[in-house]
Amino acid sequence: MIALEIHICDQRRSYTARFATEDQALTFLTVRGMTHAFHEIKAEPVDWAAFPRLYDYLYPECEHGMRGDCYGPQHYYMTDDERRHAGW
Ligand SMILES: [Zn+2]
Repeated sequence: MIALEIHICDQRRSYTARFATEDQALTFLTVRGMTHAFHEIKAEPVDWAAFPRLYDYLYPECEHGMRGDCYGPQHYYMTDDERRHAGW
């Protein structure tokens, strides 16, 4: 079972969706991806080892080959001061 929090952006509300299979979840995310946001539910963590394709979809590798939020060339967020030193 895969549980995800689905956030409907233009309605500013969320609900929990549960999927029996990885394919079901991927189909749902592909169809709704333009208008909905998806979050892992802390209380119902997904067994990512069992659903590697879903993991790749939700946490794509950035150009640095890392997961999670990418803040640009250095991947990590830089302070304004660091940004000035870097020249941008
Ligand atoms: Zn990155």
